[in-house]
Amino acid sequence: MIIRMENGASKERVNAVVETAHSLGLKTHLANDGEATIIGLIGDTRHIDVNLLHRLAGVEDVVRVSRPFKMASREFHPENSIVHVGSVQVGGVEPVVIAGPCSVESREQILEAAHQVKAAGAQLLRGGAFKPRSSPYSFQGLQEEGLKLLAEAREATGLGIVSEVMDPVNLPMVAEYVDVLQIGARNMQNFHLLKELGKVNKPILLKRGLSATIEEWLMSAEYILSAGNPNVILCERGIRTFENYTRNTLDLNAVPVVKDLSHLPVIVDPSHGIGVRRYVPAMSLAAIAAGADGLIIEVHPNPEQAVSDGQQSLNPEEFEMMMTKVNILAGKTSTAEKPVAAWA
Ligand code: PEP
Ligand code: MN
Repeated sequence: MIIRMENGASKERVNAVVETAHSLGLKTHLANDGEATIIGLIGDTRHIDVNLLHRLAGVEDVVRVSRPFKMASREFHPENSIVHVGSVQVGGVEPVVIAGPCSVESREQILEAAHQVKAAGAQLLRGGAFKPRSSPYSFQGLQEEGLKLLAEAREATGLGIVSEVMDPVNLPMVAEYVDVLQIGARNMQNFHLLKELGKVNKPILLKRGLSATIEEWLMSAEYILSAGNPNVILCERGIRTFENYTRNTLDLNAVPVVKDLSHLPVIVDPSHGIGVRRYVPAMSLAAIAAGADGLIIEVHPNPEQAVSDGQQSLNPEEFEMMMTKVNILAGKTSTAEKPVAAWA
């Protein structure tokens, strides 16, 4: 439920409404839609008397949020949310690029990758230390050793680090090292993990599940938000369809739809989304053109030797070329010619 205060309603009136909500057993969340204070009511509002709230001084309107995802909805929070990762703003004016290898493999590999992606203009470094693999016989990640190497790469380059956490048991340890906790597609509905993420003071990168609807994805974000962590970045990473020429089908429909339904930033992972190296730059540009707030791209110093996802990883030269085009597109979206030229 949302209470819209009158334009210019005094702090005292806002506080009185907040106190009334608390006395009804609800939590509150304050926002501003550019004109007036919006008070979001969190909790079970089914039995709340709308007229009672309407009668409070300074209240302009009381509306029930029609979406099942309340705190993630744009109704609840009309302005775009910006998630801060150090000095990097995800959801701000400029698209943010996160890049690095699928897995952290060795000290040399992650340091080399970190320097390369930084030189090409990436703002954050990715690298998996805990890997969700389809086969138990595949490389499972260097685990804490990998996190230490990522921290060393951050030290060397100044890039904030993004790495996956797969279960609540390892969450405190992973959260100690990383700047953004990545929740993989396979864990999007690990509800126990999602609830724990609500208690963590680190931004969450929530990937869309392999066969999750947009609503299921937003409901997973709702778990994290309602448990107390407002810093959620959504990541479209492709869904499973009948198509076999690509690893997944990158659902760029989701970008404008989710940005309409929700205030949360949305980034796109074309590496997993299409799964074939030579198509990744085209889908990166398409994602930015569709309005994505950023990209997460797999880049490896030597993709042929990668222990995971080499087939979809760009080499540093390819990444640099892609970044040049992304920058042109991001800077010139208001003119007609430049995006076309960026494809050349
Ligand atoms: C990854 O980012 O390397 C990864 C495993 O992604 P996803 O969870 O989207 O498959
Ligand atoms: Mn990968």
